Amino acid sequence: MAIATRTPGTGPVPPLGPVDRDPAEPRTGPVPPLGPVDRDPAEPHAVAQPTASAATEAILEARDLTKAYVLGQNRVEALRGVSLSVQPGEFVALMGPSGSGKSTLLQVLGGLDQPTSGEVILEGQAISQLSDDHATRLRRDRTGFVFQSFNLIPLLDTVENVALPFTIAGEDPTRGELRDRIRDVIALVDLTGKEHHKPDQLSAGEQQRVAIARALVTRPALLFADEPTGNLDYTTGTEILDALWRSCVERSQTIVLVTHDSKAAAYADRVHVIGDGQIRETIELGRRESHDATPLIARLAKLGL
Ligand code: ADP
Repeated sequence: MAIATRTPGTGPVPPLGPVDRDPAEPRTGPVPPLGPVDRDPAEPHAVAQPTASAATEAILEARDLTKAYVLGQNRVEALRGVSLSVQPGEFVALMGPSGSGKSTLLQVLGGLDQPTSGEVILEGQAISQLSDDHATRLRRDRTGFVFQSFNLIPLLDTVENVALPFTIAGEDPTRGELRDRIRDVIALVDLTGKEHHKPDQLSAGEQQRVAIARALVTRPALLFADEPTGNLDYTTGTEILDALWRSCVERSQTIVLVTHDSKAAAYADRVHVIGDGQIRETIELGRRESHDATPLIARLAKLGL
């Protein structure tokens, strides 16, 4: 399948590439079946397309972001004019070598840090123009984060860790809709049966999947994942990427993934290649059933990246 590139930071995101399979065809890919959640297992498993419509409907936009860190006499320009937009349901990867500015960009996009200049617009709201309280609420209610470290609470079991956002908000997660939501995300990350395991009774990959479920349970508009496979071996990393992919395909979850790894970036619909604080290249992979990284690696090699 053809892979398109475009000049970074120029205008709206073009439509996603075509699907290289018949959507009516049953899925044969590597994604394991879900647990007993509201889906007929006999039903063909189409790969849902993200909504790639006008840029005005973008769920997230970055406009000419810069970020400088000043340490004594030294000034590091971590971001040097980054513009991008993410449409609802898209899976976008920010890929680049260590020190290129990926994590800084993710922190700024997710409202965890402020840009030096430029604007981040989340669901139509310019984050920097909001009061601190409002921005915190927006971040809490509309975004989810997964990091390289799992950050689970050792004394809590899977259900309790996943329920944490509700518990912190003073809601009772053991009843009604919240209980159903918790069960649903635990099934989505394929941990049904491990509800009462504590983190030290789970593998590293399972712990990261608990962290993903916890990030998804509030139904965020955007899930930000910063090197979520960084601490994991290849097979376990694939489990994590498959779980993220399922949330995207089956729940239309919009995902922004930071990675240095082309195997992880190959799950995305679109890859922004970051270098020296800028988007060097944008590679449109389109929504694909296969996550084979070979076409992306070949494309990067051709670009000398
Ligand atoms: P990446 O995620 O691609 O590894 P980062 O965004 O972490 O890159 O870092 C980009 C640049 O900004 C690097 O030169 C890094 O040293 C610098 N940097 C990141 N965070 C800080 C900070 N808090 N203070 C000073 N410099 C920083």
